[in-house]
Amino acid sequence: MGAQWIHGQVGNILYEYGMENNLIVDPTEDFGFEGIGSFCSEDGILVNCDDLYEMIAYLDRAKEMNQCEDKFDQPINMYDFFRYEFDEFISKRSYVSKGNLKLLKQAFRWFILFELIDNGCDSIRKLSPLSYTEWKDYDGVDLINLHNGYGALLKQLENEFPLEQMVQLKSAVRKIMPFVDGNKIKIKLQIEKLLYTDEKATNFTVKETNESIFDHVIITSSIGFLKANLNNDFFNFLLPKDKVDVIRSLGYGTINKIFLYFNEPFWFDDEKGFQVIWSSIIDENCYDYECRTNEIDQFNQKFPKWVYYISGFDLVGERQPNMMLAWIGSIGAIEMEKETDEQIRLTIGDVLQQIIPRSRRSTKLVPTPDRVYISRWHSNPFTLGSYSNRTIDYEQLQCDGSKSLKHNIDVLAKPIYSGDIITQMETISESDCPKILFAGEATDLEHYSTTDGAFRSGIREAQNLINYYQTKS
Ligand SMILES: Cc1cc2nc3c(=O)[nH]c(=O)nc-3n(C[C@H](O)[C@H](O)[C@H](O)COP(=O)(O)OP(=O)(O)OC[C@H]3O[C@@H](n4cnc5c(N)ncnc54)[C@H](O)[C@@H]3O)c2cc1C
Repeated sequence: MGAQWIHGQVGNILYEYGMENNLIVDPTEDFGFEGIGSFCSEDGILVNCDDLYEMIAYLDRAKEMNQCEDKFDQPINMYDFFRYEFDEFISKRSYVSKGNLKLLKQAFRWFILFELIDNGCDSIRKLSPLSYTEWKDYDGVDLINLHNGYGALLKQLENEFPLEQMVQLKSAVRKIMPFVDGNKIKIKLQIEKLLYTDEKATNFTVKETNESIFDHVIITSSIGFLKANLNNDFFNFLLPKDKVDVIRSLGYGTINKIFLYFNEPFWFDDEKGFQVIWSSIIDENCYDYECRTNEIDQFNQKFPKWVYYISGFDLVGERQPNMMLAWIGSIGAIEMEKETDEQIRLTIGDVLQQIIPRSRRSTKLVPTPDRVYISRWHSNPFTLGSYSNRTIDYEQLQCDGSKSLKHNIDVLAKPIYSGDIITQMETISESDCPKILFAGEATDLEHYSTTDGAFRSGIREAQNLINYYQTKS
């Protein structure tokens, strides 16, 4: 319901780990089936327009070249950047008819939605170009599949480490409480054992509360969780202000996956997917955004509002020939989570019935999906979103006052040392001992938002502790 791919090969330690353990499907094949296939209008017309494909290619190129600094004096958000590039594209095409121009403006929203989902952000107007420049691709094939998905990778880790003895599942850390023990700092964690009351592990009650004491703690909670717990007593000590500022400034939006299973596929064998051009929605992602977001409700749309934040329906591939995947982002992804699986299944059935062009289906009627599998990353209190991105606020926050933004992530990842916890040092030895460390995808400067970034960050902080003890001995 979350990660599927390993992104890239050369220098990617997660890819290397997958290869060493025979977990990778075919290292020469790119398994990216995202955002491709037939473009459909909201009322089921197959959109076959060269200008549309050229426009997407043009914006993709502009994104890759990312000349924001050369073209603009001020920091620019990604909506304004794409809008500028779109206008440039149109200005070079005097022949584009009025009808096609309208279509291209509507397709522009599809492009923006795709980017929103790719970056895991709620509003493209808050997204900084740094989301594209700080993130680095590894060379080699971009989207690598694992045999049996990421579950296989976890199983492999389980074979190597006695996870059952080391990991407390169905447990929540509620408080991190450093205290003085003799002349050292120790960390007490308040831990709740949770009793899940439904199969999907979304609802739970607290079974019991315990306290355990540790020498060191590595926090890998998401930026969503950290943001939500800055103002309560989760951190039972003073977090440095510059770290708090970085946590607040980072973006952490919601995307979700809606998997649709059909007993009988309705698409042809050569189909690659269906991308939707919604024409009846006006929101901040549109080319001409003329109304405020809270006025969207005034529009009389046929489907619930969340539907219009689905970018398209991708086919999952040969190994799941009956499965389709709808990607949903932004406020739509959050709204969708309030609906039951059954409501979503029926609504999507109606949507597909309306949008799939007759010429692209093998059945007279598009069937309602027989089963659905849906992620709800925003409602999960331990994630509260999907993955991190770089915002304009982040871009404008330069922790060390210099031009170097790298420092922001250094500040985020910097451990809390014994000496930071207790500033009156007389009774404390080892004031340079890293006590509370920070890992997780967001703390990796160049590979944030990915599993390999998360993997690297865990190794980085474990190494940090090893280094500390090695230099002490
Ligand atoms: C829909 C979707 C698709 C994605 N696709 C890809 C992809 O194809 N490839 C890719 O590389 N990445 C992908 N990602 C991103 C990737 O999943 C994340 O970057 C990665 O999982 C981050 O790992 P992490 O360990 O930093 O955080 P998490 O995966 O969030 O793990 C943190 C863990 O800590 C737990 N936790 C948090 N707070 C507490 C607490 N107080 N007490 C106890 N437990 C706590 C959480 O429950 C969670 O299990 C995708 C993400 C989403 C949502």
